[in-house]
Amino acid sequence: MEAAVILTKCPKYKKVYGMRVQKMPDNDWWRTWTFPIDEKRAHREGYDVTRILGNLNCTDDYPGCPYCGAMGFVECGRCGKLSCWSGEKSVKCEWCGVTMTSISVNTEKFSLKGGDI
Ligand SMILES: [Zn+2]
Ligand SMILES: [Zn+2]
Repeated sequence: MEAAVILTKCPKYKKVYGMRVQKMPDNDWWRTWTFPIDEKRAHREGYDVTRILGNLNCTDDYPGCPYCGAMGFVECGRCGKLSCWSGEKSVKCEWCGVTMTSISVNTEKFSLKGGDI
């Protein structure tokens, strides 16, 4: 079973968490779990080296953001990193500081960077 961790930042709490993703038998990646993580530790562990391509649907027991509980996420158009999202019209990307105002639902597969667990 292939699994990886993608770093996501919570714009409300300005904290990083790891989003565990798992490759399913149909080759699509699903979100299965989240856990709080320290940003410095995450860099040391190289959570940004594996390429992940998938729809990133979430499983039934996916817990959402460990800080604010948001079930969704957005990919920043400028830096390509993820922020959690629960349907707001605008979200500030805490990675690069840009405010995203035209958030659209992704109809193609995401292509993201993750790392080994
Ligand atoms: Zn959050
Ligand atoms: Zn950004």
